[in-house]
Amino acid sequence: MSDSIVQRYQNVKNRIDQACHNAKRDPHSVQLLAVSKTKPIEDIKILADNGQNAFGENYLQESLSKIEICPDLEWHFIGPIQSNKTKPIAENFQWVHSVDRLKIAQRLSSQRPEHLEPLNILLEVNISEEPSKAGLSPQEVIDIVPQIAVLQNLKLRGLMAIPQKAESLEQQRKPFEQMKALLDEIQTQHPDWQFDTLSMGMSADLEAAILEGATIVRIGTDIFGARDYANK
Ligand SMILES: *Cc1c(COP(=O)(O)O)cnc(C)c1O
Repeated sequence: MSDSIVQRYQNVKNRIDQACHNAKRDPHSVQLLAVSKTKPIEDIKILADNGQNAFGENYLQESLSKIEICPDLEWHFIGPIQSNKTKPIAENFQWVHSVDRLKIAQRLSSQRPEHLEPLNILLEVNISEEPSKAGLSPQEVIDIVPQIAVLQNLKLRGLMAIPQKAESLEQQRKPFEQMKALLDEIQTQHPDWQFDTLSMGMSADLEAAILEGATIVRIGTDIFGARDYANK
C-alpha cells in the first residue's frame, strides 16, 4: 500500500523540522511550498484542509483554473515565463520565483493591478552555470538587481535556483552555499531592502538546501507522488 497524501505531507514536514534541527534553525524560518503542477484540485483541497497554505504551479492555464476554485490560497508561479503570458501571472499570483530577465520584471510590474499588494518576485539563478538551463548567472543577477528593485508594483525578495542533480549531501550543498553567498552579497550592498528569500531545495535535496539557508523549499513528488505528464 502506498502512503496517503496526508501521510506523505506529514513525512515531508517532519523532514523539514529535522533538517532545521540539524542546522540549528527555527522551523518557522522555512516555508513549505507544495508544488502541485499536473495534480488535481482534490489533492490541493486535501492539503489545504490539513493546514497547507502555499502552492506552486508551473503551467499557466492549469494554474488559473485551480486559482479560480481556491482563490484564498497563496499561489506561487515557478515555471518558465513567456513574455506574452505575464499579464495573467501579474493578476493572479502572490509570488513569482522564475523571473530571469528585466523585460519580464518590467511587464509584471506594469501589469500588476493597483488594488493588489506588490507582487513578490525572485530572480532565477543558473547557479551551476549549465548552458541549456534558464536563469541568470550570478554576475547578471548583481547587474540587474538595481533596475528591478525600482519597479513600482514588484517587491524583489530574493533568489531561486534549481541546481544540477547531485547524489551526496556534500555535493548538493555546494550550489546552495553559493546561492546564500550571493543573497548575502546583495543584501549587504542594499541593507535597506527586504531581500530575505532563498527558494531552493526540492524532494531530493531539501536537507542540503535547509543546511545552507533555504527559506522556501519547493516540494512536489514527495508530497503528491510521481507526476504523469501524459496530458501536458
Ligand atoms: C516541479 C518543480 C519542483 C518540485 O520538484 P520535486 O522534485 O517533484 O519535488 C520544484 N521546483 C520547480 C521549479 C519545479 O518545476
